[in-house]
Amino acid sequence: MPTRKITVGNVEITSLSDGHLDFDPCVFFPSVEKTLWEPYPDATNENHQLSLNLGSFLIRSDGRTILVDTGLGPVPPDAPDSGWGELLDDLADKGLRPEDIDMVVMTHLHRDHVGWNLLEEGGDVAPTFPKARYWVGARDWEFFRTEENLEKFPTNRKCVAPLEEMGLMELMEDGKAITSDITPILTPGHTPGHISLLISSQGEKGLVLGDAAHHPVQLHELEWCSFADLDPDLARKTRTALFDRIEGDNTVLAAGHFPYPGFGRLARMEGRRYWQALDLG
Ligand SMILES: [Zn+2]
Repeated sequence: MPTRKITVGNVEITSLSDGHLDFDPCVFFPSVEKTLWEPYPDATNENHQLSLNLGSFLIRSDGRTILVDTGLGPVPPDAPDSGWGELLDDLADKGLRPEDIDMVVMTHLHRDHVGWNLLEEGGDVAPTFPKARYWVGARDWEFFRTEENLEKFPTNRKCVAPLEEMGLMELMEDGKAITSDITPILTPGHTPGHISLLISSQGEKGLVLGDAAHHPVQLHELEWCSFADLDPDLARKTRTALFDRIEGDNTVLAAGHFPYPGFGRLARMEGRRYWQALDLG
């Protein structure tokens, strides 16, 4: 994949991808009837599917190399054509090794954001990024660590719980900066402790969205919620507040599930918001 990199002041953000996942739009947005998609003929691919990028972002800030979200993880042996499992190859394509990562930041603890945290070999588990500490939203960890939720979301037992046992986990709090340019903000609804990352440097602003929205159509269809939003009402409120907050201040968005590379801005035309992908040439 070509290198797709932007800067926000002194902060550099590179888009990485673990691949893609395709969904029937009516499955992905279960409360949205088929006819409501008619104004958006470009939203789906030739197979009438929504193709969601499994995006991660590599951020350089304060001399740190930070990986935000770690995709779905290794290709399952029984599904070699899954369409994902590409993150480490993409990292290598950008000239980076796993040991170059200082911080892994998870926007939330769903399966498609934690998949490459750890590697298993011969029954041994080791951090994929051996020099990194792993940052998790405090409220998400509190929620997902219960026995009931480890049953419901078993990937966390494999990909997140061992990080705490290994002493590698750091907890993020709403509004508490993790570098001089990057501040996690609580954007709950998709998960209870979901965080987005506000970036502010040299008067420029950026926002790593996480799953506060999954598709560009949600910039104006604020009511549309993914099946994966654990609290749809709160997800709607959060999304509305977030877009209200950043509209007009020229914030660059980095949106992991939007079409690759996922960089763009909110724009407004004829009273309606829309996604303006950055032209990176
Ligand atoms: Zn996701």
